[in-house]
Amino acid sequence: MIEVVWFKRDLRTHDHAALAGALDRGPTLALYIIEPELWTQPDRSWRQWAFLKDCLKSLDAELREQGGELCVRVGDALEVFESLRQRYGSLRIHAHEETGTRWTDLRDIALRRWCREQQVPLIEHRQFGVFRPLKDRNGWAGHWKRQMMQPLVTLPEHFEWQQEQATTGWEDWSPELEQEDCAVQPGGTDHGRRLMRSFLESRGESYHRELSSPETAEDSCSRLSAHLSLGSLSLRELAQRTWRAQQGARGRGGTWPRALKAFEGRLHWHCHFIQKFESEPRIEFENLARSTDGLREDEFDPDRFEAWRHGLTGYPFVDACMRYLNATGWLNFRMRAMLAAFSAYHLWQHWRQPALHLARCFTDYEAGIHFSQMQMQSGTTGINSVRIYNPVKQSMEHDPNGDFIRRWVPELEGVSAQWIHEPWRMPASMQVAQGCRIPGNYPAPIVDHIAAARTARRRMAKVRAPEEAFRESKDIFRRHGSRRRR
Ligand SMILES: Cc1cc2nc3c(=O)[nH]c(=O)nc-3n(C[C@H](O)[C@H](O)[C@H](O)COP(=O)(O)OP(=O)(O)OC[C@H]3O[C@@H](n4cnc5c(N)ncnc54)[C@H](O)[C@@H]3O)c2cc1C
Repeated sequence: MIEVVWFKRDLRTHDHAALAGALDRGPTLALYIIEPELWTQPDRSWRQWAFLKDCLKSLDAELREQGGELCVRVGDALEVFESLRQRYGSLRIHAHEETGTRWTDLRDIALRRWCREQQVPLIEHRQFGVFRPLKDRNGWAGHWKRQMMQPLVTLPEHFEWQQEQATTGWEDWSPELEQEDCAVQPGGTDHGRRLMRSFLESRGESYHRELSSPETAEDSCSRLSAHLSLGSLSLRELAQRTWRAQQGARGRGGTWPRALKAFEGRLHWHCHFIQKFESEPRIEFENLARSTDGLREDEFDPDRFEAWRHGLTGYPFVDACMRYLNATGWLNFRMRAMLAAFSAYHLWQHWRQPALHLARCFTDYEAGIHFSQMQMQSGTTGINSVRIYNPVKQSMEHDPNGDFIRRWVPELEGVSAQWIHEPWRMPASMQVAQGCRIPGNYPAPIVDHIAAARTARRRMAKVRAPEEAFRESKDIFRRHGSRRRR
């Protein structure tokens, strides 16, 4: 019997219950399976692949420090396990519970069935504060806290590895994805740890004040999302280090206590949103609130979508955020919300295609957070207030001088701070003087944002008014709503 640790989105050796559990029992094979079919799914992109490859190299290096190595196989997961079963006669699989997409869910269901048929034990460990199954949200915050407070899992003192042939040349395999001109952040535990330290020791001091502007957020946010998404960093370790930093900051005054409190709240949110998706995976495709069905299902305007995804809507701040995201693979929360809401309310597009586009843009793509957030920003959850961001107001508040806009929308390079937020308002002579004709050098606004927001608000009010919608929202809140934390 060999023990097989199936690494999925938990690419680390620290605080890894599946790895420790396997090593505790006997000779252990550390396995990662590159699944070609997964990389043909519409939510996958080259930037995610680049980050993953860094993480695999880093995981292999960590395992080698412990005397082992990572066996990477390219192929269908079931076939890989079947070949191992045939070779070894019997095996036991250890993995983390993965909250993934329908594609990974179906793969996991097929694997569980195969395990039962072949009498292969499969042990799945909880990855973080997401619970399976969960009836409602009562007491969830307490479960989360207890899970995060548990001591970090360490490897046993003595253990043995099982080596196995990897797929020859796996390092050269790559999915058929368009290679992008994107400055992908480096993956791997060392990079994750460095970010965690620099955030908790210096960068995070004004987190709560600076997280909303894309100008300041790049440095003041933790930038740990991609590491949490692929598990190159343990959320529990991050939570415990945050609490320790909070203790150190207590009584010292300054901005640290508020910054760390705000940050700790985000770590809750991480699991809170994934829990929604774990409990209701259909929201990858369907509205959470069925009362909002029919609102936009038939609404998809390819021209609007193309303008939005290329940063050509004529709203400088919206376009700058989208271009920044396209170029870097990351964007702060507030601006993600603004892009999603602009698509849903001002452009009145159904959320599914925009969600896939943004998923491909995010190096940190985490389906559980992503689809829950997309629905929240599109008004289809039934429990969140309708939040329509005014793109001009956001621009004035978060980029008052227009420096961010000029950097990412060079067509507006010569436009002064007075006109940068609404350049279409410039008189013709001013457009010539400031070197930007509209339309011409830069598009005119794709919609009148005031009128579009008014129409959207009216439509949303109509769909939320009926008694059944109210009853449904109460039920959704029972299942998914966040409770006040004590
Ligand atoms: C439409 C939309 C789609 C999103 N899609 C994703 C996604 O695919 N993957 C992803 O990790 N985050 C997603 N988010 C949440 C959030 O924007 C990012 O987690 C955050 O910007 C990542 O940067 P950071 O690591 O510097 O975050 P920080 O501000 O430093 O926060 C620390 C961690 O807390 C968690 N977190 C922060 N904000 C949120 C939030 N609003 N909801 C849930 N968890 C949060 C993340 O794990 C993050 O890494 C999305 C938000 C929106 C509005």
